[in-house]
Amino acid sequence: MRWEQGVVLKRMKSFYYVDVEGSPQLCRVKGNLFKKSRFDQQIAVGDWVEFDPQASEDAGLIYRILPRKSKLSRPKKNSQLEQVLVSNVDYLWIVSSFQAPELRYGLIDRCIVVAEKGNLQPILVFNKTDLGTNEQFQEIKEIYHDLGYPLFFTCIPKKEGISQLHDLARQGNIALAGHSGVGKSSLIQAMFPHWQIRIGEVSAVTQKGQHTTTLTEMYRMPNGGYLVDTPGIRELGVYELSPQGLDQYFKEFSAFVQDCHFSSCTHLHEPHCGVKLGVKEGKIHPKRYASYCSIYQSLEER
Ligand code: GDP
Repeated sequence: MRWEQGVVLKRMKSFYYVDVEGSPQLCRVKGNLFKKSRFDQQIAVGDWVEFDPQASEDAGLIYRILPRKSKLSRPKKNSQLEQVLVSNVDYLWIVSSFQAPELRYGLIDRCIVVAEKGNLQPILVFNKTDLGTNEQFQEIKEIYHDLGYPLFFTCIPKKEGISQLHDLARQGNIALAGHSGVGKSSLIQAMFPHWQIRIGEVSAVTQKGQHTTTLTEMYRMPNGGYLVDTPGIRELGVYELSPQGLDQYFKEFSAFVQDCHFSSCTHLHEPHCGVKLGVKEGKIHPKRYASYCSIYQSLEER
């Protein structure tokens, strides 16, 4: 038997499209593969799988999932089981725009947590620089520059920043995050002008509240890497993250956490809190602290 390896691009009912170097193959899953396994071991978009391409006339047969190096997951509806939606992505491109829609640091910071929790590297892309003000540029640099996250400033009409992003797209697989309208499709089109893909349409059907399980789709980029749109980023990635563990994803807090009087300090309302002192002294940006408080509360509510 000759087995092949490929990447799962999408699922359609009981079939999977598995990409082998640019040619997608239709596969089923071996009947008893998941019988005794947990939901989290089932196949996700982005998984590398091993399959027998000649198992039957109409489809190959998947026998094994290779270990994942990163993942975006969420709790399965009405249960505590994990549902991995996307795996093996290297970068989360967090796309925002200066205007229309307006900049929202809260969403950027939530996406950073999601990325790092899932073992993806966050990349911050600020699009529509033609609509930005000097104050906004200044503020973005103030907040994010020292944190060490790669920052890209782009403008589609002026082709600004596109070649740098194109170079980055060669270095690994990408998941896209960002509000509808920030320019995700435009960026992809600008990087790969001959590629026929409509990211916007994908976003439209994968927004929060929709059933995304069968809609998530990964695309092979013209340069050979893979691209996926992230469905409902708000509910993704913070799977199994307790509010108490949130501060480790705000890396600038670490120098201040040790000054907290209480070892279980939440940094919200306790006295003698090192983090709050850091904010007061201007060493932690108040917008980052506001994001922390807001994500903390949403984790508590969950
Ligand atoms: P998506 O929903 O994130 O995929 O956003 P689109 O790529 O569909 O872009 C939304 C709108 O923003 C479109 O009308 C684009 O022409 C416009 N747009 C995209 N990039 C820029 C930019 O750099 N500057 C300006 N002024 N408009 C842009």
